[in-house]
Amino acid sequence: MASTDIYLDHAATTPLAPDVLEAMTPYLTDRFGNPSSIYAAGRETRAGLDRARGMLANSLNCQAREIVFTSGGTEADNLAIKGVAWHHRLRGVGNHIITSAIEHHAVLHSAQFLEQFGFDVTYVKPDHDGLIQPEAVADAIRPDTMLISIMYANNEMGAIQPIAEIGKIAREHGVTMHTDAVQAGGTLDLDVDALSVDLMSLSAHKFYGPKGVGLLYVRRQTPILWQQSGGAQENNHRAGTENVAGIIGMSRALELAEAGRDEENQRLIALRRRLIDGLLGRVSGTRLNGHPEHRLPNNVNISFEDVEGETLLLNLDMHGIAASSGSACTTGSTEPSHVLSALGLKKTQVNGSLRLTLGKSNDEAQVDRTIDVLEESIIRLRRMAAATAD
Ligand code: PLP
Repeated sequence: MASTDIYLDHAATTPLAPDVLEAMTPYLTDRFGNPSSIYAAGRETRAGLDRARGMLANSLNCQAREIVFTSGGTEADNLAIKGVAWHHRLRGVGNHIITSAIEHHAVLHSAQFLEQFGFDVTYVKPDHDGLIQPEAVADAIRPDTMLISIMYANNEMGAIQPIAEIGKIAREHGVTMHTDAVQAGGTLDLDVDALSVDLMSLSAHKFYGPKGVGLLYVRRQTPILWQQSGGAQENNHRAGTENVAGIIGMSRALELAEAGRDEENQRLIALRRRLIDGLLGRVSGTRLNGHPEHRLPNNVNISFEDVEGETLLLNLDMHGIAASSGSACTTGSTEPSHVLSALGLKKTQVNGSLRLTLGKSNDEAQVDRTIDVLEESIIRLRRMAAATAD
């Protein structure tokens, strides 16, 4: 790896698995036919696309035709939220959307976009552990509610939401249910029936697949107005020549992730424990953000008193360690994390937070090195701050 020795930002993205690259390569070279072409080269590509769709449908426990390929999680979220909203606007029924205050910006900004057109949005707040309580969602439902969109797992502090319970509530009220499962792909169960969801977003680059490809699961009969006009691809649901190699890569990546899932999750949970215990035990003034148990196996989010997360990141980078101080999408912006703020953290706690997300390349030695570097950096930074204050 270039100048990063320890990569602890797997929630931002993951490296492409070698087996995934191998599966993709023929579709980037010899098998270049357009899957919509009727001659042999096109049919060959179409066959690969169909196989990938079938494998993904198997993982989601849905039918192949319920999968719509997209350019990633952001497009899938936009399509779900705007698609359902515009369908209702066209029919003049249902004007209210329920989502949460801790969603990814792909969901939050889609909801805010719709507010400009007169849609009403309720942003349900999480409890102090970052969990969205199903009762809070139930309480927000109104006669004109047409969509509930709650993420499966949070990208900043890893909280895993009770989607099956929320999905059941949505179903009882006849409200369409979407979940952004981008952080859950490859790690949590994606059975759309068990989750009681009508729409679900996934993105390949979060589970060792390629960037720029994802999918939206759309249950049959879901009221949705398709957003992209053009050719008849994706059953007339999303126009544009398919990202064939990307889709093949996504299906192989999910297949691989699911085959080794339980073992890898156990390994990550042990590493997570070691990292959390090491940091909370050795560094004073620390706080774990997000639920201690109901969280992604690879997610550690900690606030350190009297230090800036951004300064810590630079220190880590100088030691060849890559991490994040919030979601990658907000890096560079001066806005404090909306997720940690919604948990009720003080601004200083939000600004002193780090997100460390583990993955396949990490081991105990790397975790121990990270703890050593952080302990040393924090002690030094606090000493410097105290000296300047004197
Ligand atoms: N939703 C969540 C929860 C995410 O973490 C991300 C990416 O960070 C996205 C959506 C956007 O996915 P993509 O990068 O594929 O557009």
